[in-house]
Amino acid sequence: MSARILVVDDQEPNVRLLEAKLKAEYFEVITATSGQQAIDAARSGQPDVILLDVMMPEMDGFEACRRLKADAATRHIPVVMVTALDQREDRVQGLECGADDFLTKPVDDVTLFARVRSLLRLKVVLDELRVRELNAPADFLMPEADAEQGHWVLVVAGDARAGEHLRSKLPATVQSKVVTDPALASRVASSGIDMMLIDLTTSQFDGLRLCARVRSEAATRHVPIVAVVSPDEIERSVRALDLGVNDIIHRPVDSGELSARVATQLRRKGYADRLRTRLDESLEMAITDPLTGLHNRRYFASRMQQMVEGSASGKAPAAVLIADLDHFKRINDTYGHAGGDMILTQFADRLRGGLRAMDIAARYGGEEFVIAMPETDLEQAMVAAERLRLAVAKDAFRLPDGEVAKTVTVSIGVAEAMLGETAEGALRRADEALYRAKAAGRNRIKPARRESQAA
Ligand code: GH3
Ligand code: MG
Ligand code: MG
Repeated sequence: MSARILVVDDQEPNVRLLEAKLKAEYFEVITATSGQQAIDAARSGQPDVILLDVMMPEMDGFEACRRLKADAATRHIPVVMVTALDQREDRVQGLECGADDFLTKPVDDVTLFARVRSLLRLKVVLDELRVRELNAPADFLMPEADAEQGHWVLVVAGDARAGEHLRSKLPATVQSKVVTDPALASRVASSGIDMMLIDLTTSQFDGLRLCARVRSEAATRHVPIVAVVSPDEIERSVRALDLGVNDIIHRPVDSGELSARVATQLRRKGYADRLRTRLDESLEMAITDPLTGLHNRRYFASRMQQMVEGSASGKAPAAVLIADLDHFKRINDTYGHAGGDMILTQFADRLRGGLRAMDIAARYGGEEFVIAMPETDLEQAMVAAERLRLAVAKDAFRLPDGEVAKTVTVSIGVAEAMLGETAEGALRRADEALYRAKAAGRNRIKPARRESQAA
């Protein structure tokens, strides 16, 4: 995975050293030698990861990190703090500034590349979501803090005592439970928890295997994992990161550091979840009519074609209904446009109420609706049409001011797709039948003629 890395250090030799190591692994490298330069380079160069020295004159790494994370243009870029001292206070302070990770100087190559790869994977996912989400409103950007309220963290450890010990180090703001059986853990994980804290130091079960399982299953793929390892287990840390573990914390676990790391994971998850929800919503919008919640014309056309092709290839026939509300212009004139809208919505509800799960209903135009019914012949479709006609004519419709509209009716044309006929052809015949239903006085249903008669 190639990517652009911004290396920041006030000591030129340190910059050159990291640059050489990264370039040897085919990363693209840009450099900066002060906090301000780093911010400028991050804005203009949009790197994929920033390696940021902590101790620098004027603006130190903490301050630079804080500013990077406060800026919407750079907030999404992962920041790895590079510290000379392996000081607990430094780590906590850095994480509180929004740093995504830590490396201790002198930087060990294996750990460096594993960390960078892990952060890149994360960024690739977020970038993809960001790109698809074109017009992100302000509330959509990466939140800054306090996102951990009310979240669920699942602690997985070798025994209850170790689990409770880890649990006691979690921030008080999250809810948590301890599980000691890995099979149970992956089941609980799929029930909608927000993060997993997995103890990889236990010999009771294979923690790496659990991490791999959580990552590979669709229901838990997006659940962040923080793994607990011993500081001397570099290889295990690297494997964990390569398996998709989001973060590593060393034993003995410090509660301040754990709180900061958990907060980072929950913040990111909240952000990614929101992006995904928005994405689902926009996909949904592309196929849905906003007023009635029924499908739209475009979606209907493609599904109807599939259905008709299915029936042509020897399966049971498919039928199509076109329903048009009678004298809707007059309804609008009498009850106002808002009244008309309310009637359309209720019509859609009544329509939905009479359908089978496999039927597809769509709003085709203003007050015109279509229904495709797979495995349905003309006779059965006429029964469904009559049921719909009655569902409309029988009961009054509610109006915005609490009054009711008593005289709403619908006319329906019904066609069964013929062998070798296109969806368009069947729709045209149903439309012709609808026209005859209107001409015959409305509030009635008509079957379509076969093509030869219709002409
Ligand atoms: P017919 O019985 O022949 O179908 O008569 P009609 O008045 O229903 O037919 P026409 O197609 O002439 O008029 C449809 C009317 O539906 C015109 C339009 O103002 C109204 N309409 C279309 N879309 C909407 C909508 O979204 N909301 C409301 N309230 N009215 C709509
Ligand atoms: Mg009409
Ligand atoms: Mg019409």
